Amino acid sequence: MKCVTIKKGVDCALMSSEGCSYLGGQCYPVVEKCEGCDRISKYEDAVYCNSYPDPSAKWDHGACNFATHVQAVLDKSGKVKINPLKASKRAARSRR
Ligand code: SF4
Repeated sequence: MKCVTIKKGVDCALMSSEGCSYLGGQCYPVVEKCEGCDRISKYEDAVYCNSYPDPSAKWDHGACNFATHVQAVLDKSGKVKINPLKASKRAARSRR
């Protein structure tokens, strides 16, 4: 169903005839860690994620698994590290 709240006219699985079924009845703006991600779009006067309604929650336990600008990798101790390599490789490819 098409969104009638923030992303007006965009097809959304969370939209129903009673309105947006997400927490608080709306999407939430992206967070600082989302900067550089290809899934960001501007709607009215704020920036939102096209894949997830609450971007801050996607970063609560490490890197967002939908992110296009970073890659989560495990270091030797098993901790999650964020590897910004994807973005730099993409930038290098576009300079060729
Ligand atoms: S996919 Fe993840 S990193 Fe990209 S904008 Fe959405 S929440 Fe942010």
